[in-house]
Amino acid sequence: MDKIIRVDMSTLSTTTQPVPAEWAGLGGRGLTSTVVAAEVPPTCHPLGPNNKLVFAPGLLTATPAATSGRLSAGAKSPLTGTIKESNCGGTAARMLAKLGIKALIVEGMPEGDAWYSIHINKDGITIRAETELLGMTNFAMVEALEARHGRGVGMLSIGPVGEMKMVLASISVKDPDSKLRSLGRGGLGAVMGAKRIKCITIDDKGAPLPTLVDTVKFKAAGKVFCKTLLDHPVSGQGLPTYGTAILVNILNELGGLPTRNFTAGQFEGHDKISGETMHDTIVARGGKPKHGCHPGCVIQCSQVYNDKDGKYLTSGFEYETIWGLGADCCIDNLDDIATADSIMDDIGVDSIETAVTFGVAMEAGILPFGDGKGVIRMLREDIAAGTPLGRLLGSAAAGIGKAYGLTRVPVVKGQSIPAYDPRAVKGQGITYATTTMGADHTAGYAVATNVLNVGGHVDPLTKDGQVALSRNLQIATAAVDSTGMCIFVAFPALDIPECLESLIGMINARFGLSLVMDDVLNLGKTILKTEHQFNIAAGFNAAHDRLPEFFALEPLSPHNVVWDFTAEEIDAFWDF
Ligand code: SF4
Repeated sequence: MDKIIRVDMSTLSTTTQPVPAEWAGLGGRGLTSTVVAAEVPPTCHPLGPNNKLVFAPGLLTATPAATSGRLSAGAKSPLTGTIKESNCGGTAARMLAKLGIKALIVEGMPEGDAWYSIHINKDGITIRAETELLGMTNFAMVEALEARHGRGVGMLSIGPVGEMKMVLASISVKDPDSKLRSLGRGGLGAVMGAKRIKCITIDDKGAPLPTLVDTVKFKAAGKVFCKTLLDHPVSGQGLPTYGTAILVNILNELGGLPTRNFTAGQFEGHDKISGETMHDTIVARGGKPKHGCHPGCVIQCSQVYNDKDGKYLTSGFEYETIWGLGADCCIDNLDDIATADSIMDDIGVDSIETAVTFGVAMEAGILPFGDGKGVIRMLREDIAAGTPLGRLLGSAAAGIGKAYGLTRVPVVKGQSIPAYDPRAVKGQGITYATTTMGADHTAGYAVATNVLNVGGHVDPLTKDGQVALSRNLQIATAAVDSTGMCIFVAFPALDIPECLESLIGMINARFGLSLVMDDVLNLGKTILKTEHQFNIAAGFNAAHDRLPEFFALEPLSPHNVVWDFTAEEIDAFWDF
């Protein structure tokens, strides 16, 4: 029987409640955003007692559906002040779903200075005072918690940066190989730190798999769905072979790879940090070019990257991280970027926010462009140590920009713009401007149609069709984010009709429903509107749905394009 678990950190107590009827058809982002919008006062301080931190597996998580094991976390974001949902792989989502936990809602804040850990298993929830793990980084915590609870335990944790409540802080999620994935964006690690929870461990031993109302129909739909993922050239070949870093050369060729703190669209060192180079390096050093971030992922865009001695260095080495420290900070040494990636996982920071922050810090003169060793040093010796410089860096790109009086600060609603320059990939720019999350590439991945010709083609350099493209993608993504599916199912979903049909077929067979495509799209619209209303009540308006002015003033080479949408054109996004 599915349930909602509430953990009240003010009283150090827990309650279990049945799932309210209006939440029954929700999962993942749909559920986290609904709970936050219903229960968090929009104007509350994100690090105060009135914010809530909500974790929810997707509607299909822990079923045999391929690639359905993502975990959503939601709260009011301390980075943006907006509603926030962040999702990632790992084992926690599957474990929560097996335990019948539709949502884990963490409320309140403890009195005093004590820290706590939370353990969840089939017998219930234990909150205990925590001293052993304080100050510990995430990889050390994996070892300590596996020693405490056994190797199979699931884990959500914060590193020292989350303990210090910096807005860069992520929540780490253990993956099947005891490595880490991140609920990265929006500073949710700081929210967990404010509630003084160092870790949440989950043990699903003895818990049954979710029941399926119609197993035969589920299996049939699941088979078709899985085939579409493997048949599509992006999800079936490109991503498993080169990982997301396949995009380095593609975006560079297109002239949309933000370089040197967004001052150019091409990076001369692109070949040294490309997916092709990464793949060859991984193979030569005995790493794994193909790897899943959670059990049941058939796309497997992740990888294990070894150092030059063949020893494990990092995994989940994503395009956005490689671009951010590579092109945006002009670091053309993949080993330095991999080392920084590993440290960012260890100390618990969002690698996108942190990389863009370093790009802005380089423009401010805090360290030179291209200084990979300097980034590595400052991550450990300043950010993780909480020195005054570390705290300044920990205030993220927007904070550094204000401290140094810079105008070239690539953020929307305080959150850093990721790896696709909005002047040269205009559909992506509309997504950055309008998403309820602050600049977020996954909210409506227009790169698919602007750059990869998935779902047709909309010219990335012109304005025509971009608002409608971003709107349609954002609606669909909000719905897909509720299923527990990885966003990369969007590639086959946009090109192969059977993909979405079979996804809906699995939901119907799981719950005994008869949803059709319009129901799913209406779910996506409802989620976006719920999030938008929260943001309006929190003080946001149309004037916040704008890109920084420098994108309109500074032409981007090599195409010499600027951001040229009018306010009216952008605001038409919300006409649905
Ligand atoms: S495709 Fe990549 S990001 Fe998506 S679930 Fe699989 S490994 Fe994780």
